[in-house]
Amino acid sequence: MIRDIESHQALLDVLQRYVNERLRPLENRVAEEDDIPEDVVQEMREMGLFGLTIPEAYGGLGMTMEEEVQAAMTLGGTSPAFRSLIGTNNGIGSAALVFDGTEEQRERFLPKLASGECIASFCLTEPDAGSDSASLKTRARLEGDHYILNGTKRFITNAPRADLFTVLARTDPEQPGARGISAFVVEATSDGISLGTKDKKMGHAGSFTCDVNFDGVAVPKANLIGGEEGKGFYTAMKVVNRGRLHIAALSVGIAQRLLDDALRYATERKQFGKAIAEHQLIQAMLADSKMEIYAGESMVMDCARKRDDERPHGTEASCCKLFCTEMVGRVADRAVQILGGSGYIADYGVERFYRDVRLFRLYEGTSQIQQMVIAKNLVKDFQSF
Ligand SMILES: Cc1cc2nc3c(=O)[nH]c(=O)nc-3n(C[C@H](O)[C@H](O)[C@H](O)COP(=O)(O)OP(=O)(O)OC[C@H]3O[C@@H](n4cnc5c(N)ncnc54)[C@H](O)[C@@H]3O)c2cc1C
Repeated sequence: MIRDIESHQALLDVLQRYVNERLRPLENRVAEEDDIPEDVVQEMREMGLFGLTIPEAYGGLGMTMEEEVQAAMTLGGTSPAFRSLIGTNNGIGSAALVFDGTEEQRERFLPKLASGECIASFCLTEPDAGSDSASLKTRARLEGDHYILNGTKRFITNAPRADLFTVLARTDPEQPGARGISAFVVEATSDGISLGTKDKKMGHAGSFTCDVNFDGVAVPKANLIGGEEGKGFYTAMKVVNRGRLHIAALSVGIAQRLLDDALRYATERKQFGKAIAEHQLIQAMLADSKMEIYAGESMVMDCARKRDDERPHGTEASCCKLFCTEMVGRVADRAVQILGGSGYIADYGVERFYRDVRLFRLYEGTSQIQQMVIAKNLVKDFQSF
């Protein structure tokens, strides 16, 4: 659902210009320095980019899902590190509070996340709990009016920059699965929190992950998200479900960028006396990429509208995540092929995207987890007839 077509289009136009004129020229610098310049972070705050999805009542833009996926596709026109910087505040870092926080918690934390004054991270994954996240071991024990948190979280995006963590921890050790898990909002300055060294990654230079260790961290009872124990895992799944559509949309945007780069190169580069874009085998790769991008975009838009209309869309969100993240991998591979040797050389940027997009098949549920969700839902729906 687009609330106001004119103002939404104006926002997308501004974002597109910012991507093209400001962020794209910085891509190599961000890759080399493995950091985003502070003036860019400040510009993003001023543009309201940290609060795209946070409700207007708390200082954000309150984007609907349809609006958000269009913004994510636009941000896909440049290095995903830029999107990652604002990604946690707009998604996994804030969504638990938006969906299930108490009014007091929302009022206390969301305005600072919307303005970008604070960065939020989402701590679900652990060394021994990845895809099987309901088996997490981080413990939250109630002592008086505080919970005491102990455990380690792994691969936490934006943790080195974070001021706030949404942390999933087990409040009921008698319940080994989802029902024993609660969600907390934890301030990064709390005693007993320490960060691991920054992970060295295959791609996404300029975006950081690391371990977050909780060693006897006292968290006020008031920071239990929703004020009720045992609801955390269900909150986390809602968060991840929305995130899946966002990552699918981002994948479509990056695939479009890669097709544009490949098309430009193919029309300029000549071999055997003509532009390589005139060779039919190159045309086949261009056509396949266009076809898949169009399919991905159509799926994402359809699913986003279903979500805005509050129609069932869990299966479709997983279909979008699975198809679009696999699709952008294929498009990136073709882009390298179309550029030939240049596709392998860093100056052209295509090899960087090739490495960057590999992540999308891994986080917010691997491709195998999406297949499992889709199949499980299919069987359940079939059996309920
Ligand atoms: C750069 C980066 C950023 C991240 N950011 C965050 C973050 O901000 N917050 C957070 O909480 N987590 C984050 N993660 C963690 C991410 O969500 C997990 O890495 C992901 O869910 C997979 O878990 P795992 O790495 O433990 O792999 P595993 O779960 O160990 O999976 C290994 C392989 O086994 C497969 N597999 C697992 N179970 C099954 C099954 N039942 N059937 C078939 N195949 C299966 C998987 O698909 C995969 O191929 C991040 C990870 C990375 C790399």
